[in-house]
Amino acid sequence: MTQQYEMYINGQFVAPSSGQYFDSVSPADGTLIARVGQGNAEDIDRAVQAAFAAKRVWAEMNPLERGRILRKLADLLVQNAAQLGKLESDEMGMPSSLSPMIVVESAKFFDYYGGLAASIHGDTIPINPQIFCYNLYEPYGVVGIITPWNGPLNQAARSVAPALAAGNTVVLKPSEFSSITALEMARLATEAGLPNGVLNVITGDGANAGSPLVVHPLVRKVAFTGSVKTGQAIGAIAAHKIMPLTLELGGKSPNIVFEDAKLDAAVPMVLMGFVLNSGQICTSGTRVLVQRTIFDEFSTKIAAAASKFPIGRDRPFPTLGPIANQPQFEKILGFFESARQEGATCLTGGERANGDGLDQGLYIRPTIFTNVTASMKVVREEIFGPVGVLIPFDTEEEAIRIANDTEYGLASGIWTQDASRAHRVAAQLEAGTVYINTYHERAIEAPMGGYKKSGIGREKGMAALHDYMQLKNVTMKLI
Ligand code: NAD
Repeated sequence: MTQQYEMYINGQFVAPSSGQYFDSVSPADGTLIARVGQGNAEDIDRAVQAAFAAKRVWAEMNPLERGRILRKLADLLVQNAAQLGKLESDEMGMPSSLSPMIVVESAKFFDYYGGLAASIHGDTIPINPQIFCYNLYEPYGVVGIITPWNGPLNQAARSVAPALAAGNTVVLKPSEFSSITALEMARLATEAGLPNGVLNVITGDGANAGSPLVVHPLVRKVAFTGSVKTGQAIGAIAAHKIMPLTLELGGKSPNIVFEDAKLDAAVPMVLMGFVLNSGQICTSGTRVLVQRTIFDEFSTKIAAAASKFPIGRDRPFPTLGPIANQPQFEKILGFFESARQEGATCLTGGERANGDGLDQGLYIRPTIFTNVTASMKVVREEIFGPVGVLIPFDTEEEAIRIANDTEYGLASGIWTQDASRAHRVAAQLEAGTVYINTYHERAIEAPMGGYKKSGIGREKGMAALHDYMQLKNVTMKLI
């Protein structure tokens, strides 16, 4: 029988007030994975009220104890990595050889922020001997967290862990395309000793469950990961509420290969930069800028590597899983059509992958376009599939100009053996992350976030912790 998932409120699974459930379908073969509760404004209100009622207990708990519970949750996630990885793989199509590793990485957020919980403390400000002046870093109260489908547990853990470590309570709304592991995480959090109401999960779509969470008057901060369009809609509501936001949005990141780069290292990693997780990573390095002197050699090598890249969800890593859902699959095929119409040359891929057990799945071949111009859709817009464009450049200045010619600013890459050039270029790239001679280096301790339309605020690292706290100053006259 198909498993039915209810929502998680106040430490227990609760049926959706509408009584309605939606289908969660495998992108690898179209099978029904589970039925998931369709949340609405009434469910959001129940969850927010539970989070509001729990906020004092959690905020006033000794921070060492708070951290201990989060680290226990990290342990439970690791212990359940195989099962959670399988769910993630079933539901969003992440390769089954990759998903347990991503669960372990997600657990690290609770380890890291759990360890930091007891190190959050205020400071004193010397004014004069008659004045006692100090700062307190306080939680906001109830934080709403809304996540996308491309790395479900990872993105949920990335925001939930610092929010909880800072003493907030949370209502999490995962994507309707990948809801299950967020629910499992909440169940394990209760098992780890998290007080009831501190972490609640409402499933459902953006209009019925996401929007009511943002609008709710008791929600004092929202952390959103997703598209620019939704980020703008949430931003408009936040502007009306005067509510702080973390926005982690899309990207069209440049990956610059200079002529002195070590090509043996660069070719596979530049390819991985836009095919890992089937290209469904916000930081994907999708605009590959290559110095003209090595352009032909690099193009030949990367096209050969792309055409040989293994495809199939259940193959050893590295392999390409299916695209996570039908609308995204159609969107990528639409980009192929526009690239052809606009005159780009497809070096490899550019079509769905079939045969070899792939026919029932939403598989796309690793794709590379060349002969592109700056105005083409494939060059300007985020595709969110295993697709890269190759763009030649002559000088360092030209590379920087092309790299920054985008409304996004999430990540970037530089490949060179000249350390001076690497740091000179890094300083001029308009992006929140710069990788040098690597890509997708996944250190949870390093902050990430967007310049320009890629977002506001930071996730990961110490910087994120500060984004989940508000600052209070207390000044006393010693009379
Ligand atoms: P999306 O914006 O369509 O949806 C994201 C989440 O917002 C989902 O949970 C959805 O239900 C919810 N939502 C939709 N409309 C809403 C509304 N009006 N109010 C409140 N919530 C609403 O994005 P997606 O298609 O799920 O994800 C892909 C996008 O996410 C890409 O643009 C990608 O770059 C971005 N992303 C960014 C990061 C990052 O860290 N910067 C990480 C992963 C993905």
